[in-house]
Formats: sequence, structure tokens, C-alpha cells
Amino acid sequence: MLAVAYVNGRIVAPQDAMISVFDHGFLFGEGVYEVMRTYDGELFLADRHFRRLRDSAAMISLEIGMPDQALARACRDTMDAFRTGPGRGAFDEELYVRLLVTRGIGEMTYDPAKAYRPSVVVIVKPLGQPASWVYEQGVAVALVSVVRNHPRSISPRIKSNNLLNNILAMQEALRRGPFAEAVMRNHRGELAECSQSNLFVVTGGAARTPALDAGLLAGITREFVEEVAAAAGIPVHDTRLTDEDLFGADEAFLTSTTKEIVPIVRVDDRPIGSGSPGPVTRRLLEAYRVRARDVARAAASRYRVEPPLPE
Ligand code: PMP
Repeated sequence: MLAVAYVNGRIVAPQDAMISVFDHGFLFGEGVYEVMRTYDGELFLADRHFRRLRDSAAMISLEIGMPDQALARACRDTMDAFRTGPGRGAFDEELYVRLLVTRGIGEMTYDPAKAYRPSVVVIVKPLGQPASWVYEQGVAVALVSVVRNHPRSISPRIKSNNLLNNILAMQEALRRGPFAEAVMRNHRGELAECSQSNLFVVTGGAARTPALDAGLLAGITREFVEEVAAAAGIPVHDTRLTDEDLFGADEAFLTSTTKEIVPIVRVDDRPIGSGSPGPVTRRLLEAYRVRARDVARAAASRYRVEPPLPE
């Protein structure tokens, strides 16, 4: 595997990237994570990802124990190690950066007071963007029967390392065919989000996405797309959406950090709109990419001067 990992302060090759079986992340799935990417080699929206990581951690009573600057430093050091690794010369493709924090090693109990130090892991690998046909032709998604976690069970707002709800949804989609994503409904039967991305529909030139209280991850791309749409004069609303809103939409698209904005042209065997990527989706994607580069470049300078990592 072409990757490098930071594990509790040490940067190592994949075969040496080990976590104890006594870590609660392994034992109980007790941890949170973020996936970031670079634009022109610079980490994109790292501040927002760190904030969401802290929000997720707070919802499971986990104290990360490292300030944002130290998290940024760990990510940057791992990125540098990847780029300069053996055989890679000056690797200049975009990177995928996964930051994970687990409860760490402790007693085999659910009491958070009994765990010791959280484990912090950063995995860096090539981003591997979707192929260009994905953006040009769009993808098919499946509307699955697996229901998104009830917000008062395991809140979808927690970006948790325990991904079984998402995995079971995607497994159902893949059993039906080569679908790119699984769209899930919430416990009320309304549309919520996809297994690894957020969902938007476009009708009459306006974009709509399920509101956060439908029970979904507050996607950072979702938020950024809303800002890009507002700046481009495209109305965008957080609202309640049903199956009919999706099947009757002019356009639909999904959003995520690694996929940006991907047009949805079919849901199961039913075409959406014209069955091709629509004009609003195309305009948003173009504006998104321009703005993402600008933002990544502007933010880079803030993380250049950093204190040393805490011992
Ligand atoms: N929803 C779920 C369930 C996800 O796993 C992801 C990917 N992290 C998203 C939405 C998209 O979030 P983001 O735009 O922050 O990558």
C-alpha cells in the first residue's frame, strides 16, 4: 500500500503502523475521525475539519488533548514524510489525509474516566480522485432500505470510526448493482444522506438539501457548496426532502471532501431530470473548484510557523 501513517507521534510505513488490541478504538469502535484533502498540495479547510473532530469527540466525551496547531503539525509532517518517502522523489499529486482519534488504551470498561491517553493517527495516501467521466456523465445511486441511525441512538452528527450503519447501506446498494452510492432515509422516512456523502436536489434553478435535523453528518463540502452557491446567486435551502423530491428533481448531486460535487443521473432504474448532469450542478462544480484552490492557498500560510509537537 502506498501510504504513510503517524501513530501517536511516530511516522511509520504501513506495515509498522500498529495500534494495540487494548485500544478502545479496536475493542469498542470508540473513536472519531476526519478525512481531508489537499488542493495544490495545501490542506483544504483544515480548521473546519479540526472543529468538527472536536465536536464529534465532545459528543462521545473524548478529550483530544492536542491543540489545532499540533494536529496540523502532525498532518503536515506526515504529508511531508509521504511526499519524500522512498522511491517517491518529489510526489506532487493531491493527498488524502485521514485523522483519527480513539479513546486509547484503558481498562476494559465503558467508563471514559478509566481510559488513559487517546490514540492519534494520521494516514496519508494519494487522493485518487474520481475519473473524469464521473463528472462528465454522472453516476447512478441506490435508494436503500437501511435507515440512517436515529439521532438519539448514535447521532449521525458524530463522525465516528464505527461505520457499520454506512457500510450496511453501501453493501445493500452493491448487492443490487454497480451503484456509486447508497441514499438513506431517516427514521421518519425522509431523505437523509448517502453512505459517504451528502445529498442535494435541484428544482427550478434552486438547490435543496436535507436539513441537519433530519439526522445526518454536517458535511464540510455541503457547507462549502452552500457558500459557493450563495456567492454564485444560486438559491440553496436546508429543508425536508422525500423520495418524490428526488425522483421529481431536475438535477441531483452528492458532495464529499474526496469527491467534491458528483452529478447523480439515475436512482436505481429511474433517470433524474434529463438523465445527464444538469447546468446548475456543472456551474457549482466549476465555482467550487476555483474557490477551493483560493481558500487552500490562503490558509496555507497560517500553518507555516508552528510550535514543536508536545512530547
Ligand atoms: N455523510 C457521511 C455519512 C460521510 O461519511 C461523509 C464523508 N465524510 C459525508 C457525509 C461528507 O462529508 P464531508 O463533505 O465533510 O467530506
